[in-house]
Amino acid sequence: MILGATGSIGRSTADLIADHPDFIVEAVVGGSDAAALAAMARRLKARHAALHDERGLAALRAALAGSDTSAAAGEAAVIEAAQRPCDIVVAAIVGIAGLKPTFAALQPGRTMALANKECLVSAGSAFMAEVARRGVQLLPMDSEHNAIFQALNGRDASSVEQMVLTASGGPFLRWSAEAIEAADVAAALAHPNWSMGRKVTIDSAGLMNKGLELIEAQALFRIAPEKLDVVVHPQSVVHGMVSFSDGTVLAGLSVPDMRTPIAHCLGHPDRMATSCRRLDLAALGGLTFEAPDHARFPALQLAIDAMKTGQGLPTVLNAANELAVEAFLAGKIKFGDIARLVGRACEAALRHGEAKSPQTLAEAIGVDHIARERFATP
Ligand code: NDP
Ligand code: MG
Repeated sequence: MILGATGSIGRSTADLIADHPDFIVEAVVGGSDAAALAAMARRLKARHAALHDERGLAALRAALAGSDTSAAAGEAAVIEAAQRPCDIVVAAIVGIAGLKPTFAALQPGRTMALANKECLVSAGSAFMAEVARRGVQLLPMDSEHNAIFQALNGRDASSVEQMVLTASGGPFLRWSAEAIEAADVAAALAHPNWSMGRKVTIDSAGLMNKGLELIEAQALFRIAPEKLDVVVHPQSVVHGMVSFSDGTVLAGLSVPDMRTPIAHCLGHPDRMATSCRRLDLAALGGLTFEAPDHARFPALQLAIDAMKTGQGLPTVLNAANELAVEAFLAGKIKFGDIARLVGRACEAALRHGEAKSPQTLAEAIGVDHIARERFATP
C-alpha cells in the first residue's frame, strides 16, 4: 500500500514496483489530484484508490471506469484504506496531513516504510509508542535515517557515541545571508542534488529539513540530542554515519537517488535489485565535509533548540514551519521570514505555556492546532 502515491516518494516507489511484478498493491492514497491517483492505480493495478479530497470522487471514479480498482474519497475513506490488510505500507504523505493516516496504518504485524518525517517530529513519542504497541516493524526511508538504520544493523543506541546526518547544503550553500534572506521561490526550489516534493525542497534550502531530521532521528533511534550531529556534505553521497564506542565509524553511501533507500525498505531483509546509477568514487574524485553555518541558516539551530527543550516544541516548530513554507510558496513572505516566524512561534508557545509534551496522537494534534491558530504572517 502506498500513502502519498502521487508524490515524489510515491512515484519513485511505483518505479521500483513496476520492475517487480510480484508486488500486489492493495491501495494507493492521494490528496487532491484525482487524475494522477487514478493513473497511478492503473499503472500499479491497485485494488483500491482513496483520495483525501471528497470533491474529487466523481473524477476519480470516472478515471477508473473499466478498471478493477475501487474508489473512495474523504478523510474516513483515507483512514479506511490505510487500515486495509497488507504486508508493507509506504507512508509518504507530506506534512501533518499524514499524521492520522500514518497512525491508522500502524496495524499489527505489518512493516511500515516511513518517509513522512513530520509524524515523528510532531508526535514522536506517541508514534513510537504505537509502533511498539502494535508490533509494527518500522523501516526509515529518509535517506540519512535509512543509512543509520543499516549501520546500526539491529543494535540499539547504547554503544553509539555519535550519529551524524549529512546535509547537502541545498541551493544556498555559498550564498550570502542577504541573498538567502531575499531568495525567491524558483531559487529555493532548485535543489542541486535531490529531486523531491516542494515542501521538503524548501525545508532543505534553509536547512530546516536537517533540523527536522535530527528530531526524527532522536525519536526513531531513541538517542540523546547531544549524540546527534550534522555535517554539510555537498556531494550527498555519504548519507549518515554512526560512531561506536570502539572508534569504528559505519557510514551509508549511495548516489543521491531516493529509489535506493526505498528499495532497501521494500526488499528488507533481502536486497531488491535496482537499476539506479551506481556509485563511482574514482569518477567523483573527492568527497568534502564542512560544519553548517548557523548564522546563514538559523532554522537548523531553531530545530536543535526545540529538540533539546523537548516538551511540545518540536510539534510547534513543525506546525509553524509548514505554515511559513506555505506562505513562502504562495509569495506572501520572504525566504528569511520562514525561520523568523518559526522562531517566534516557538518563543510564543514557551511564553504561553502551550508546549506541553504530547504523549498521545490527540495531544499532539492539540498542540499543533494551537500553534497554527497563533501563527501569523507579518
Ligand atoms: P510530495 O509533495 O511530492 O507528495 C505528497 C503526497 O502526499 C502526494 O501524493 C499528495 O497527493 C499526498 N497528500 C497530500 N495531502 C494529502 C492528504 N491530506 N491525504 C492524503 N494524501 C495527501 O511529497 P514528497 O514525496 O516529496 O514527500 C513525502 C514525505 O516524504 C514528506 O514527509 C517528506 O519530508 C518525506 N521525504 C521525501 C523525500 C523526497 O525525496 N521526496 C526524501 C525524504 C523524505 P496529491 O498529489 O493529490 O496532492
Ligand atoms: Mg533526508
